[in-house]
Amino acid sequence: MLTGLTIVFLGGDARQVEVINKCIELDALVRLVGFDKLENSPSGVRHEALSSVLLQEADIIVMPVIGCDDNGIIAAPFGSGDLVMKQELFMAIREGALVYTGMAKSLLRRMSTEYGFRLIELLDRDDVAIYNSIPTAEGALMMAIQNTDITIHDSTCVVLGIGRTGFTLAKTLQGLGAKIRVGVRREADAARAAVMGWEPFMTRDLTAYTSDIDLIFNTIPTMIITAQIISKLPRRTVIIDLASAPGGTDFRFAEKRGIKALLAPGLPGIVAPKTAGIIIANTLCQSITEEFHLRGDEE
Ligand code: NAP
Repeated sequence: MLTGLTIVFLGGDARQVEVINKCIELDALVRLVGFDKLENSPSGVRHEALSSVLLQEADIIVMPVIGCDDNGIIAAPFGSGDLVMKQELFMAIREGALVYTGMAKSLLRRMSTEYGFRLIELLDRDDVAIYNSIPTAEGALMMAIQNTDITIHDSTCVVLGIGRTGFTLAKTLQGLGAKIRVGVRREADAARAAVMGWEPFMTRDLTAYTSDIDLIFNTIPTMIITAQIISKLPRRTVIIDLASAPGGTDFRFAEKRGIKALLAPGLPGIVAPKTAGIIIANTLCQSITEEFHLRGDEE
């Protein structure tokens, strides 16, 4: 239970609504900024304006998955406009207060160091990334279906990287009857791929595996699908790049060659905001419980 804790939510999309509901369920004192246009506003919360006084009172501040940008702007699609975190607002956050986000940009990290609040980035956690790989894989599948005129069944798919996202994606595609090749850089991953019934190859040899591909899914966050690779792909190949921006594809050259290449960021929030929200909500509440127990132990 989160009884007695004041949690301030600053903006966020449909995922945040799940987090808010969970915190209410666990008896936290919930205050919302940037949710005044939310239909069916949950009962037992207070809508507030963004102010230093409000932030001073917070034990916990929850920002959206993408946090604030480097100008301090927080997207608040359910509010009357975006929120702006000015320096004096960061300054008002109590030392030792917890500030949660998915992934922080440099301003937020800097403010945390400067003003002594504890920044916790949930997407850093392995468990969150693994759970999140499920809606990501489903989103990638949706994009593949929308952008091809063939079935996934019997198609030849290359998945680059079998980390948290690539593994789930390869398994999902395999479940639909696709032929899976996976690009890895470590022998242990090649062995794991073989166990799974996928055809492994080393990413350094990617050029040798470019013939006869229907779909390439990239999860490697570095330039990997280069112009040289793209020049060898069949014209029908569709590239779906899941790696964080700017992705790992030479999009300019793909367009020049007439190969469809799509950067697909933020899929969990697009295809399954409720599930993605529940994943964040569970982890956040577990983390808060741990953090406050830890403090109790230390005192
Ligand atoms: P991850 O678990 O770290 O997996 C990354 C994979 O890429 C690992 O297999 C890693 O191999 C491999 N890799 C990295 N650099 C490589 C290189 N130079 N050559 C060959 N292989 C390389 O990460 P993840 O959680 O799966 O996320 C992957 C990417 O997807 C990230 O950019 C993440 O931000 C993004 N993402 C996007 C969405 C979306 O909605 N589009 C959702 C979730 C994640 P090693 O193990 O050998 O390092």
